Amino acid sequence: MLARSGDDACSGGVTMSVSVHRLRRPARANDSVGQPLTPAERGLMIASAEAKITELFDVLQIDHRNDAHSRDTPRRVARMFVEEIMEGRFSDPPALTEFENTSAFDDLIVTGPIEVRSTCAHHLLPIYGEAFIGILPALNGRIIGLSKYDRVVQHFSTRPQVQEELVQQIGQFIVEHTAPRGLAVRISAVHMCKTHRGVKASHKSRMITTAYFGAIADREALKEQFLHECLALGQID
Ligand SMILES: [Zn+2]
Repeated sequence: MLARSGDDACSGGVTMSVSVHRLRRPARANDSVGQPLTPAERGLMIASAEAKITELFDVLQIDHRNDAHSRDTPRRVARMFVEEIMEGRFSDPPALTEFENTSAFDDLIVTGPIEVRSTCAHHLLPIYGEAFIGILPALNGRIIGLSKYDRVVQHFSTRPQVQEELVQQIGQFIVEHTAPRGLAVRISAVHMCKTHRGVKASHKSRMITTAYFGAIADREALKEQFLHECLALGQID
């Protein structure tokens, strides 16, 4: 799948002349590019990004060749984008280890706060806050280990995001893989594109988005119970 311009690339090297956008079909900022990157593709992507960030530093008149503080910054930033900030675009979602709902538990389960560390797709600045997930299990459905919800939040957060779509992506993935009777995903987060630029809002300024699925979407009493449990779990601010 890696676009190559010669056999030399097959012996472990990567061909820098290959345009990196040919690695995969370009996707929306908060979509996956498909199959996880191979180590060779990852190496090519980091090297290509480093070259472009170096160019950006030149445009911005940063003397990174002589300044000890910024000398390795293009490489560091390229690695950070590919391996951390946008890792979720280039890797598989977590495998959800399924457990049968053998005890036939059918009341609302709420887990949180789950740390959200993401990046806004509009400005590439951090979004940080907490997620809460409410699950109304199906009697014949599947309940997954609690830590898996944290992993799912992390996976979809590590890409340039829009908070309204992040709650939907997390919820749809869990619904598709565990078939609950109902599900709720709520995120309260600070957007640094609002606190560090533009209007320079207070760090207490948050945005809350909630996505409801199935029976929770249809019943106000379940929504209220979910929101009540979110408050009980510490979503005070
Ligand atoms: Zn933004």
